[in-house]
Amino acid sequence: MIVVMGPHATREQINVVVKKIQDAGLGSHLSAGVERTIIGVVGDSHTKELLRQSLEASAGVERIVLILQPFKLVGREFRPHDTVVDVQGVRIGDGSIVVMAGPCSVESREQILQAARAVKAAGAAMLRGGAFKPRTSPYSFQGLEEEGLRYLAEARAETGLPVVTEAMDADQLMLVIKYADMVQIGARNMQNYTLLREVGRSKHPLLLKRGPSATIQELLLAAEYVMSEGNYNVVLCERGLRGFDDQTRFLLDLSAVPVLKGLSHLPVVVDPSQATGKWKYVGPMAKASVAAGVDGLIIEVHPEPDKALSDGPQQLTPQHFTQLMSEITPLAGALGRRVQSPATIRT
Ligand code: PEP
Ligand code: MN
Repeated sequence: MIVVMGPHATREQINVVVKKIQDAGLGSHLSAGVERTIIGVVGDSHTKELLRQSLEASAGVERIVLILQPFKLVGREFRPHDTVVDVQGVRIGDGSIVVMAGPCSVESREQILQAARAVKAAGAAMLRGGAFKPRTSPYSFQGLEEEGLRYLAEARAETGLPVVTEAMDADQLMLVIKYADMVQIGARNMQNYTLLREVGRSKHPLLLKRGPSATIQELLLAAEYVMSEGNYNVVLCERGLRGFDDQTRFLLDLSAVPVLKGLSHLPVVVDPSQATGKWKYVGPMAKASVAAGVDGLIIEVHPEPDKALSDGPQQLTPQHFTQLMSEITPLAGALGRRVQSPATIRT
């Protein structure tokens, strides 16, 4: 249920409504738009129904709208305008295209520094790199863990690129928050509800990846877990679904981009690297994603992909990445968009 305040509602009138909601034991979430404030009411349906009349009669309230979709706070009814997630000055969702790039895994100090310098020179706005790796086999390289996070922080300090990196559990989350600017919840953990709630309480910017077998509604409900804890800094990521054809690793669901943008106010990013699994297809699908209206791309780039400890076949060389950026920039321009340039962050 959402409470739409009138355009002239005062701060006090908003406070009265919020107090009524809280006194009833329900959650209240404020969305302050340019024209009017919308208050999302979450919790038990019966309690909401009991409160409804009293809210309707409150001064400053224009109307009460029942949200029929199972997701509430992530939906456009709660927040009609696009959410902008600010990651140390990089604004994801502001209309521009944010490119996050870097290796699949942090493998050494030298490797991540080289990768960071290369992606920055090519125009990426953020650095990616896994320190905790969700590998299909327990015998594959599992990541450098905290040492990897330290190297990422060093690369960030040198280049000024904010860092996004994955956490797979609550302990790792605390470490990731300490070193990185944005947490990634990977495809395999999209429905780890304990972790989602934990990130929700942290308020740290989150890149939430769609599970390979998750529906769009399940992805939005996963984001709802995070928002319901008060963290609105959520970016959704499409990274391919389980298909039947083995020519590509996954099947990139590009139509998810306009569908998600229609249903939700949250920014949407595509990961063409995990989706295709082959570097040759990354460029075409990155460009197709721009055409589909993404707010950003996350692309794997390795100084020497043939020596990579994880996902070698899908990583671009710095040369190929530079070439791709030079193609994306005019493509974005033709669509009335621009590629966001690297921000200089305070380190
Ligand atoms: C990754 O980004 O390296 C990764 C493992 O992603 P996903 O969770 O989408 O598979
Ligand atoms: Mn990878």
